[in-house]
Amino acid sequence: MTTLAPYAVREATSRGRAHHEDAPAYRGAFQRDRDRIIHSAAFRRLEYKTQVFVNHEGDMFRTRLTHSIEVAQISRTIARALGLNEDLVEAIALAHDLGHTPFGHAGQDALNACMRDCGGFEHNLQSLRVVDMLEERYASFPGLNLTYETREGILKHCSRKNARALGALGERFLNGGQPSLEAQVANLADEIAYNNHDVDDGLRAGLLDIETLTSTAFFREQYESVRERWADLSGRRVIHETIRAMINRQATDLLDASRAAIDAAGPGSVDDVRSHCTSLIGFSTEMLEQHRALKRLLLRNLYRHYRVFRMSMKAQRIVGDLFGVFFETPRSLPHDVQRRIEERGGGEPERARLVADYIAGMTDRFAIAEHRRLFTVGELT
Ligand code: MG
Repeated sequence: MTTLAPYAVREATSRGRAHHEDAPAYRGAFQRDRDRIIHSAAFRRLEYKTQVFVNHEGDMFRTRLTHSIEVAQISRTIARALGLNEDLVEAIALAHDLGHTPFGHAGQDALNACMRDCGGFEHNLQSLRVVDMLEERYASFPGLNLTYETREGILKHCSRKNARALGALGERFLNGGQPSLEAQVANLADEIAYNNHDVDDGLRAGLLDIETLTSTAFFREQYESVRERWADLSGRRVIHETIRAMINRQATDLLDASRAAIDAAGPGSVDDVRSHCTSLIGFSTEMLEQHRALKRLLLRNLYRHYRVFRMSMKAQRIVGDLFGVFFETPRSLPHDVQRRIEERGGGEPERARLVADYIAGMTDRFAIAEHRRLFTVGELT
């Protein structure tokens, strides 16, 4: 690893883990966090969870697993160039989507609606719940017992109400502080990754076309310079060269703008970063506008495309149906979920939360199969 900048997170000054553990012999604390994330069940399930395209729609689209790996790659590149802690940024990036429901945002909206009277459902908070409580792997503690710094990075957003229940981790959502620069990098790398790969997947699915995309200056400039440079290049190579140039432009802009912001603020430690009034990792004003324009285009033409909308409708129905039947009839749940509900005793909010945990953990295809088993007469259970 390259030398850490003074404002990087350091293991020596880590706020530690909730349950004490001796330091590992030949790995750093954040390496251990990353390794625990990679070995978790929730991480493996990311392979069959999608954001825009449901898994069975095709094998060529990004899944949450490949998305998370792309986010980790972009994060590490930026972190290394800024002298930040690469192990930490990688751990945050690989864990950032662990709490996502099946069927991406449609699934989350449906689960949030089901949980309206029981505290709601936030995928970000759920990622934290996965690593803090839901993974069952260690003898001495629930969850993965990750360091404060990895958990801080995972919790990207949080409502004030939920922040109050989180102690030190929730404070910044109440007092306006910032997370570490490593957390800020992972957050922006997420945006760079999905904006660009959704262009690629949208084109591949035939829901976007070049003509529509060239209505935004950012895509058009990269596309035209690729066409100019390689006049005979055709098909997917043109698209990939264009997307490669877009990622490169955005990452370079992010680095330059962030370096300038860090130099101007002059943080001498990660605590200076945390108490700074704004985030220091970000695009230049021009790039931010181009980035937003592309996001708007994707919203209009891809996320709201009728074919995506149809699948979202189905996804919402599946999640809503599953929640309804499990909540009303806990006996239809697998034994281990029933056991957890009995152990917690508790009332309806606790039962609803455990049902939400069960559904949120499902992959797209498992949720579809479970729905078929429960609602299709003649289907084997
Ligand atoms: Mg993401």
